[in-house]
Amino acid sequence: MNRLEAIRVLLVEDEAGDAHLVKMKLRQAQCGRFEVTWAQSLIEAQRCLAASPFDVMLLDLSLPDSEGLATIHSARVMAMGTPIVVLSGRGDTDFALTALEAGALDYMVKGDFGYDGLARVVRYALLRTEMEARNNLLITALEAAANGVVITDKDAIVIWANPAFGRLTGYSPEEAVGHKPNELIKSGVQNKEFYQDMWADLLAGRHWRGELINKRKNGSLYHEELSIAPVKNGAGEITHFIGIKEDITERKEMEAQLQKLASTDPLTGLFNRRVFLEQLEQEAAKVARLTHYSVVLLMLDLDFFKRINDTFGHDTGDAVLKTFAEIVRNNSRAIDVPARLGGEEFAILLSGADKKDALSMAERLRQQVSEIVIDHEAGPVQITVSIGAAALLADDKNGEAVLHRADAALYEAKDRGRNQTYWSCF
Ligand SMILES: [Mg+2]
Repeated sequence: MNRLEAIRVLLVEDEAGDAHLVKMKLRQAQCGRFEVTWAQSLIEAQRCLAASPFDVMLLDLSLPDSEGLATIHSARVMAMGTPIVVLSGRGDTDFALTALEAGALDYMVKGDFGYDGLARVVRYALLRTEMEARNNLLITALEAAANGVVITDKDAIVIWANPAFGRLTGYSPEEAVGHKPNELIKSGVQNKEFYQDMWADLLAGRHWRGELINKRKNGSLYHEELSIAPVKNGAGEITHFIGIKEDITERKEMEAQLQKLASTDPLTGLFNRRVFLEQLEQEAAKVARLTHYSVVLLMLDLDFFKRINDTFGHDTGDAVLKTFAEIVRNNSRAIDVPARLGGEEFAILLSGADKKDALSMAERLRQQVSEIVIDHEAGPVQITVSIGAAALLADDKNGEAVLHRADAALYEAKDRGRNQTYWSCF
């Protein structure tokens, strides 16, 4: 504490001799400057407090208008946060402790002030009050923070958490205290190595930051961005960890949605051309690398689709495309890549399939499509599909070559009368 201005002391003391001694001790003090106002009763003290602010109150408990602990109680109400140091006439430790419990910040036995002792007690009372005010300010800030803040001891046991932690996890700060966070919110989504890496950083004294999925009290999962800072003591030993948690569930969901929008065809929900071409390149590379790996590409085109649009309108055209896409989806395995390349042009990449698998799948699909009947006021709408099939070859440089072969096979299927599958022999 380095105060240039004088510390304003309100001395409440009815004995003139005692008051004189206190004033003298403070005047002689080496540690700081004191400006003492003397009040001889509680009522006079109240008038002084109303007239001007004070930094510290020195309080004798035996006054003409108040006696004992009641003096502390009354003085606290008047002082409104100004720290009170009791001037006790008794060398009685029990009584002094009772005085502290009643709200005095410190006590001194009269006549026992020692060299600079009274001045130091006054300065300390002021310093402590300022620190408490600062702590309260910081706690208020942490409690108001939108992010979850959690403080643990060195064994990761929660000793404090803010209300945002409660809103995020469903566990109130009171419920969390005494537990390790992982006992409460671990989802099991992250593996053991994830936590081992995290602890390796933390125990080495490094900050850790990462994204993880945790579990709320109600069992639901959420995405969290977590940053943890180890806190060290003067000897460099870790004593605490401070975790700051941000709920990023919404952001993650939005990212997933954007990802989906960027990779799918909005009308049918099948993969779009871009994703299909990427997958085709990857599969072509795999076929070139692995001897026993085979992939077949099916190109599919709805027959006379323009006629449907012209006759029944675009809404019906869209309904036909969606129904067709549904059949494609239902006939595809999880490892296949069914895509709409544009208009009425579709493709399916059949991973690990050979000619026999591919042709039986194509035939099943063609059959199901030919059985579709979509109701329309102008009459039933029926469609058929032509399919060109081609295998990826080990010496294809890239996906381009097989696209040409499958395309040529598709035109052959169209030429031969549509509603059929043609295996590429180009
Ligand atoms: Mg007295």
